[in-house]
Amino acid sequence: MHAVGIVAAAGSGLRLGAKSPKALVPLAGRPLVCWAVECLLTGGVAQVVVAVPAAERAAFAAVLPSEVVLVDGGATRTASVRAGLAACAPAADAVLVHDAARPLTPPDVVARVLAALSVGARAVVPVLPVVDTTAVVDEAGVVTGALPREQLRRVQTPQGFDRATLDDAYRRLPAGAELTDDAAVVQTIGVQVATVPGDERSAKITVPHDLRLAELQA
Ligand code: C5P
Repeated sequence: MHAVGIVAAAGSGLRLGAKSPKALVPLAGRPLVCWAVECLLTGGVAQVVVAVPAAERAAFAAVLPSEVVLVDGGATRTASVRAGLAACAPAADAVLVHDAARPLTPPDVVARVLAALSVGARAVVPVLPVVDTTAVVDEAGVVTGALPREQLRRVQTPQGFDRATLDDAYRRLPAGAELTDDAAVVQTIGVQVATVPGDERSAKITVPHDLRLAELQA
C-alpha cells in the first residue's frame, strides 16, 4: 500500500486569537503543522501534501521539510482537502486526511488507520467514546430530549480512505459543498465507514485553552 497524507492547514485560527494562521502557531517551539506532518510520516505515510492559506505559502515552506508538497487551500476545509487530493501522487492507493490542528496525534493512531485500510476498509475514522450525557435542545436552549451516548462517538483525524473511493466522492460532490470531515464526503456516495480507536492526545486545538493543555503534553 502506498499511502499519502493530506494535512488541512489553511484555517485562519480566528478562534485561537492568533495573528498568524493557526497551523503556524508554535507548540513547544514548533509550528502545529510540523507536528502534524511528522506524526503522519512516523506512522507510515510515504508522502505528505499540505493545504495552506495561499498568501502564506512562503511561511509554510520555510518551516516544513522540502519534500512536503504545498498547495493553496480553499475557503472551506472541504475545498482545502479537495485541492490536496488533486496534488497526491498518482501512485498513491490510500489517502489519510489529517487536521494540522491535531499536533499530538500518536503515530499509533496513524498505524491503526493504515492497518484497517490494508485489510480492505474503504473508509476508516479514529473515534472515542462520549462520556458526558448528551442532550438535544431547541432554539431557546431548552432540553427536548437526549441521545443514547452508547451509540455516539467523537470522530478524529487522520481519516483513511481507499484513494479511488475518495477521488470518486470528491468528484461527485457539488463544487460549493461544505462538510465537516471527509468521512461525511464518502458517505454521500454510500460508502461504509469503519472505526478504529482514537486517542485523547489527538484532541483538536481550537481555542487558547486547548493550546495550553497541549503545551503540558508536548
Ligand atoms: O476550523 P477547524 O478547526 O474545524 O479546522 C480543522 C482543520 O481544517 C484545521 O487544521 C484547519 O487549518 C483546516 N482548514 C483548512 N481550510 C479551511 C478551513 C480549515 O485547511 N478553509
